[in-house]
Amino acid sequence: MLNKKTIDDLNVKGKKVLLRCDFNVPVIDGKITDDTRITAALPTIRKLMNDGGRVILCSHMGKPKGQVKEELSLAPVAERLSELLGKQVVFAKDNEVVGENARAAVAAMNDGDVVLLENTRFRPEEEKNGEDLSRDLASLADIYVNDAFGTAHRAHASTAGVTAFLKESAVGYLMEKEINFLGNTVENPARPFAAVLGGSKVSSKISVIDNLLEKVDILLIGGGMAYTFVKAQGGKIGKSLVEEDYLDYALNMVTKAKEKGVKLLLPVDCIIASEISNDVPCEAADVNCIPDDKMGLDIGPKSIQLFEDALKECKTVIWNGPMGVFETSNFAKGTEAIAACLAQLDATTVIGGGDSAAAVNQLGYGDKMTHISTGGGASLEFLEGKELPGVAVINEKE
Ligand code: AMP
Repeated sequence: MLNKKTIDDLNVKGKKVLLRCDFNVPVIDGKITDDTRITAALPTIRKLMNDGGRVILCSHMGKPKGQVKEELSLAPVAERLSELLGKQVVFAKDNEVVGENARAAVAAMNDGDVVLLENTRFRPEEEKNGEDLSRDLASLADIYVNDAFGTAHRAHASTAGVTAFLKESAVGYLMEKEINFLGNTVENPARPFAAVLGGSKVSSKISVIDNLLEKVDILLIGGGMAYTFVKAQGGKIGKSLVEEDYLDYALNMVTKAKEKGVKLLLPVDCIIASEISNDVPCEAADVNCIPDDKMGLDIGPKSIQLFEDALKECKTVIWNGPMGVFETSNFAKGTEAIAACLAQLDATTVIGGGDSAAAVNQLGYGDKMTHISTGGGASLEFLEGKELPGVAVINEKE
């Protein structure tokens, strides 16, 4: 369980609370197209408002790289938040993030009011965890609360540096929930416990595989990363995605799984095509015999069956990464089948953010899962067994 202070441990009445959220939402032509991250922050915002805090919200959006980019302004977020909270959220438009306008907006606040600062990444110091921005942000507030799980794996000024200049800090409800869910699932799973890993690269998931091999009973590997394992074991993979530098690592993992008694399942067949397109023919093939001019772009029907049979027995499942190039419908069946399978399980099912979370939500299985993480990168680092920098800096419970 999390041993950090939470907002339930704070007395915020009449205090200025700097609340770091993850409002990195998709915006097209000034309109927010998915407000999941905004709604996920509401319980914390409401709690602080209802307790009489003066809530100063901050977040990054996109990658403006230290420059002011109008299209990445948080103005649309203030508008959406006002609707959701039923109260005006004052947007402190300010190219300096913490400049004259922001200071004036904060000075005018009453208890229970909410102000949203401009995109923290408009300042070059943000991503460098620079002291100037950390000091500026801290100067606005009495207390710091971090509820930005999606950015907690980054040590930036607004997620970590700022705590050096404010005595009191805590995590918000979203952060608490994410960490307790992910932590509990990995540390105290009902067994059998399986992890399903997919996505493009072995290299980006090495530490996750290493860490999970110590914890799970079954490890299922699909997606582009599976072909490095197949090739390492002598399979012919055509022009499928492969990381030649990781062939030895893949073989070591196969051996390590055997030694640990972990059942490591790889696809036995796949959907092959000459290119990633719905306009070229595709067919199922043995994963070990892919023609030279074809590549494996999804797990095949036999693999789906194999994975489903293994998952049926499980009481806990963690899933991170798609089984194929699910963005192209010809290669989406494997990912869809895994989502459907997890939705039916009588088990704890945790979806680790990013593509798998998007797939589950798009298919309408969102409410069938135990927990869908709001942070892809952060949940991955958590599954690697790392302490997240944005959590490490928060005060311990007394
Ligand atoms: P990651 O960001 O590493 O989780 O990878 C996600 C990406 O992996 C998605 O955009 C998928 O299209 C891609 N992907 C999944 N399976 C394959 C595959 N067999 N070949 C190439 N790319 C894949």
